[in-house]
Amino acid sequence: MTKLKYKILFIVIVILVSMIGTNNYISSYMFTQEYKKAIEQEILFVGESVKLQAERILSFGLDIGELYQFDEICREVVEKYPEVAYVLIYDKNGELLYHSESSEEAVKDIHFDFNVVKQAQEQNTIAKVQLNIDAEKYQATSIPIINDSEAIQGTVLIAFSEEYVTAKTKKLVQYSMLQSVMFIMISFLLLTFVLTKWVTRPLQSIMSVMNAAGLGNLHARVELSSKDEFGMLGMKLNETLEKIKQLMNENEKAVKIQQSFVLEQERGKLSESLREAIFSISSTLDVEEVQQLALTHLRNIIECDRVSMYMKEAGFWKQVATVGEISTRVNEEKLATMYNHVDNIEQPIIEMFHGHQVLYMPFYVHKVYLGVLVIERMAVAFNESEQSLALTYVSQMAIAIDNAKMYEQMEEIAITDALTDSYNRRYFYNVFEQELEKHLHNKQPLAFILFDVDYFKKVNDRNGHVIGDKVLRSLSRETKAYIAPHHVFARLGGEEFAILLPQTSIEQAYQQGEELRQLIANMDVETDSGPLQVTISLGVTNVIPSEKVESVMHRADKALYEAKETGRNKVVSITATS
Ligand code: GH3
Ligand code: MG
Ligand code: MG
Repeated sequence: MTKLKYKILFIVIVILVSMIGTNNYISSYMFTQEYKKAIEQEILFVGESVKLQAERILSFGLDIGELYQFDEICREVVEKYPEVAYVLIYDKNGELLYHSESSEEAVKDIHFDFNVVKQAQEQNTIAKVQLNIDAEKYQATSIPIINDSEAIQGTVLIAFSEEYVTAKTKKLVQYSMLQSVMFIMISFLLLTFVLTKWVTRPLQSIMSVMNAAGLGNLHARVELSSKDEFGMLGMKLNETLEKIKQLMNENEKAVKIQQSFVLEQERGKLSESLREAIFSISSTLDVEEVQQLALTHLRNIIECDRVSMYMKEAGFWKQVATVGEISTRVNEEKLATMYNHVDNIEQPIIEMFHGHQVLYMPFYVHKVYLGVLVIERMAVAFNESEQSLALTYVSQMAIAIDNAKMYEQMEEIAITDALTDSYNRRYFYNVFEQELEKHLHNKQPLAFILFDVDYFKKVNDRNGHVIGDKVLRSLSRETKAYIAPHHVFARLGGEEFAILLPQTSIEQAYQQGEELRQLIANMDVETDSGPLQVTISLGVTNVIPSEKVESVMHRADKALYEAKETGRNKVVSITATS
């Protein structure tokens, strides 16, 4: 913009300078010519009056050079007209009769061709001659002196210095130049002022608004101060910016609508996946399956690399399920701290380790702390909506896990004898049926022990039912601890118990029955009146293929009866053969 101003200024100044230069040259030339003409006119006029005087004196036959009054007239002329340098009078032979210069030396060498004067007279023109006086050039106008008979008597030469004329005109040209320079300067100042006011400022204003708009400020407007082209340009720019602003607003609105539409769609999808996930994890009552499903579904709802579930089991924190993999190791230190202070994790916690994002989500049911979900993701942080989504999901998941756990407990209760915490009769018969089925195919030995507390009625009678119950519980505990893990122990009712021994021969079963008998016989049950001992009688038998529960039971019962009958506190076995 500034450059534009200087460009315009440069162009205008070049035009001005060339115009004024040309004008000056022409006018000084014209002026010089006019000035010369004017001097010539004047000199002609002066020469005419001198000539008249000279003609008069000469007609009287007087010596013109000696005439004092004439000399005075001529000197007056020289003084009055500064451009006149000399007044010279020559006779018809070219002899100098008079000169206005006192020093004769100065004019003695003046020579000029008198014929020029004569020719001019004949042609009725004014003769002009060049004179050299004192090494200076002079122009001289010759006015012929004519007698009554029209014959040339001589001539008056009025000489003027060329230098004088040149100096005179030069000065005037200089004045004119000075005037021009001043004119240029004033023009320059005026032009600068005008350009600044009318061009630079409006352009600057337009440019600054355009710059602002370029930087995103669509509220910037050009201040409209005039109605010229720049004013119109500013107005157009303002209008354009307003239109762009409106378009942007429209666009923004459209984008918002689109975004909210997409968001709504995403929300719809998300709530659908959430609903499906919750339905899926609620549709099973197997705790482990619920845990695994919960994690798998969570990965569909919240993008993550790995998710793990930690729950307290038998007093210890344990990772119960995990889905996905992560390249870096989970912050074990943090997990260890979490295990130690897990009860303090009440709210979700987010931690970050070198771009590894970890979201800890504790979960509760009825304010009972169940466990914690550890959701891990590389690079991208968990945002608030993801956290609140996780919170919703986790609360539903906790309910599903709690339900499954409750069901598991109910199942446990259904198969457990409440007093002794061993399996109950119903469950035992079920297992018995299954084992008989298995035995049919695998041909592995299967043994059965039935036992009963000896004189238990007396125990009750002497010590009361509470101690009786205690005896039953102690006996159960000892038996459970003794038998192999794959053996099934149950209370069939009252003080009667049974053990099913898969992969055990009748001999082995007899041996184990004997060991158990001794174990129980040596067991002390603490009572207020000192330690109490009880004995058991055991009936042992084996299972033959295709046998029914009742048949096996009957044989064992028989063996037990025999043990009772033959003295109690003993093992009797009856082997069945197919
Ligand atoms: P034996 O088997 O040696 O022939 O004599 P017994 O006294 O044990 O015989 P019986 O089967 O007649 O007596 C069983 C007693 O067990 C009867 C009942 O009072 C007692 N009893 C059964 N169930 C329980 C129980 O759950 N708790 C207690 N304390 N006693 C029970
Ligand atoms: Mg008994
Ligand atoms: Mg009994």
